[in-house]
Amino acid sequence: MKPSQGAVLPCCPDDARHGIGINPPLLCDLQLSIFEHAGRAIILTNPDGLISYFNRAAQQMLGYTPEEVVGRETPLLFHLADEISACARLYSCEPDGTPPAGFGVFISRLKLKIRDEADWTYVRKDGSHLPVSLAVSVLRDAKGGVQGYLGIASDISERRRMEHDLRIAAIAFESQAAIMVTDVNQRILRVNQAFTKLTGYSAEEAIGQTPGMLKSGRQDADFYAAMWCSLGQCGHWQGEIWNRRKNGEIFPEWLTISGVRDGRGKVTHYVSTFSDISNLKVAESEIHHLAFYDPLTAMPNRRLLLNRLDQACVSAKRSGQFGALLIIDIDHFKTLNDTLGHDVGDHLLVEVARRLSACIREGDTAARQGGDEFVVMLEELGSEQEGAAVQAEIVAEKIRLELARPYLLNGDTEYFRSASIGISLFFGQEKTIDILLKQADIALYKAKDAGRNAIRFFDTAMQTTLDERAELEAGLRRALVRDEFVLYVQPQVDAVRRLIGAEALLRWQPPGRAMVAPNDFIPLAEETGLIVPIGVWVLDQACAELRRWADDPRSASLFLSVNVSARQFRQADFVAQVADALARHGANPRLLKLELTESLLLDNVEEVIEKMLALRAIGVRFSLDDFGTGYASLSYLKRFPFEQLKVDRSFIRDININPDDAAIVRAIIAMGNTLRLSVVAEGVEDDLQHAYLVKHECSLFQGYLFGRPMSFDDFRASLGSEPPPRADPAIEPADNWVI
Ligand code: C2E
Ligand code: MG
Ligand code: MG
Repeated sequence: MKPSQGAVLPCCPDDARHGIGINPPLLCDLQLSIFEHAGRAIILTNPDGLISYFNRAAQQMLGYTPEEVVGRETPLLFHLADEISACARLYSCEPDGTPPAGFGVFISRLKLKIRDEADWTYVRKDGSHLPVSLAVSVLRDAKGGVQGYLGIASDISERRRMEHDLRIAAIAFESQAAIMVTDVNQRILRVNQAFTKLTGYSAEEAIGQTPGMLKSGRQDADFYAAMWCSLGQCGHWQGEIWNRRKNGEIFPEWLTISGVRDGRGKVTHYVSTFSDISNLKVAESEIHHLAFYDPLTAMPNRRLLLNRLDQACVSAKRSGQFGALLIIDIDHFKTLNDTLGHDVGDHLLVEVARRLSACIREGDTAARQGGDEFVVMLEELGSEQEGAAVQAEIVAEKIRLELARPYLLNGDTEYFRSASIGISLFFGQEKTIDILLKQADIALYKAKDAGRNAIRFFDTAMQTTLDERAELEAGLRRALVRDEFVLYVQPQVDAVRRLIGAEALLRWQPPGRAMVAPNDFIPLAEETGLIVPIGVWVLDQACAELRRWADDPRSASLFLSVNVSARQFRQADFVAQVADALARHGANPRLLKLELTESLLLDNVEEVIEKMLALRAIGVRFSLDDFGTGYASLSYLKRFPFEQLKVDRSFIRDININPDDAAIVRAIIAMGNTLRLSVVAEGVEDDLQHAYLVKHECSLFQGYLFGRPMSFDDFRASLGSEPPPRADPAIEPADNWVI
């Protein structure tokens, strides 16, 4: 209805019957009934804009009863003042912009301007807002006089919501992700800008084509069949797919396809959204690489090796074929690292990795376990154990020879390194991976024992060793709890055989069995970490004994040496361990001597020196044990705050028959004396040895000649009635070390 033209309602003869409003409009019963049942809100006003009729739909829409609205002005009730003034400004009917007094009047002024329905916001009785489309018509009588106004309003909130959704959809469509809309026959209907950016195809090039234009060929027919099956069943599919750009480049994308269904559930379109996940793939592969590959050699690391070994065992079981595990250790790698530096060491490892990889077939695995230890896993070596062993040995020999070739690590200088190899065969494992690795490890130790540069297979004899080891380990674990350790002491004397102190030596006395010597269990205790609690126990016992000695004038000035293993010394709280033990028993720190071996001095030099200095500060002294068997380096003696060195007994044994040993011993004594260190000769068994050593100015002695290791009780009982003279070594703790 167009208000400009006006609406002419036929005049009802009996308007007076009508009681709905003041100055009721001219509605007959029929009209009233139609209005009452109309689906849209109908509001009639008189010429002044006062409401005279308000139908049922209007009541529902706005929440008012007719009684509440009839006779009132519509703007005050249903309209937003802002909207009216905005409309007035738009049509310039009120120059100052103030809304007209009555909406009917306002409408009447607008009537020439309003062409059609307009959108307004109605305010409901409860204050809520409702968007409506409102058509206003002027009601005229037969002579054309204005009788009132007819407003017909419909709720457009649903339309508004859809418009809003469409706006969002339009923005979403131009999002970062590529979007492609196809019809049910997969003809492309629409693509967005991101699609063009990602694929290189413009909208014009893509529309009318099928998504097949992007196919990379990397997915097979089965892949697409599964995809369509999921689309058919669930209405959508998502996953990773490789597509091809216009320039031919293949890229990975994450694709989501959703079917669009009409009201009857029939698929009418497909919407595909996809984004380039190349960066994600790169990151993923980097993470994978870091987790499973050794950064130095780019070889699989231990973690990946264990995975593969696991798989290999499963497939060996299935195929009935043998496999082999080779553990390869570079002989004397540590020396090279220490003498030439870590860069050269790294260079060697990279070269070893390269040669190893070249020695194996595709499908076999070469991995770096850590340090200078590599592992090669060979698979499918046949179903006969003997044949498999032969094949494994052939590969091992090839590796051994290959690794023995000269290395050019530092310019043109050639370096030679050999490798020791331990092999363990596997066959659909009844053994666990752990056992398998342990077996190869044992075989490796056998290869090293055999003089290195050798290959050894794990065999049943080795299995016995392994079992014994396991038994020993279990026994050791129980020993501490059951108090089966005993501390012995062996006397130390000066040149005139006066007792000056003793060395504490550990023993293990399993119940009902022979006493076990430390060389038979300390290496294992080191390996398993049990040496740490054992070491704490030894220190405790030693300090308790020192305290006991202090109370007896015959032993009050004797010092006690305690052997400290590398692992124990490396404990972060080692200094505190020693200080605590001394304090607990009130022992004199100046009578405690700690014996360290050279191997301990190779790593973390600064940390070792720091700990030694901390202990020196409270009076504890240090002795370098087994000197001559390791690097026998002068630099150790100068760098570390030692007060004493002990010549290993292997040199003393033949001192009178082997001129080389004699020369070494003389040199060590001379070196010690020059550096103002006291020198102890270990393992002195006879007078001849003692005489020779005295002659060459060795100051202190230990060995069966002066006393075997004995219990504390026996040691105390062996002390004479006279207290020994002040027996602290003549040479005071030297400050001759240079840091
Ligand atoms: P070590 O510290 O060099 O101790 C000297 C070893 O030589 C002792 O062996 C001792 O019994 C032996 N010995 C001494 N004089 C003679 C001799 O005249 N002839 C012969 N043939 N041997 C002699 P033992 O007690 O079997 O200890 C072996 C090694 O075990 C020690 O060598 C030391 O490295 C280690 N050890 C002993 N007790 C402990 C301990 O409490 N803690 C740690 N970490 N290691 C210990
Ligand atoms: Mg010792
Ligand atoms: Mg020794």
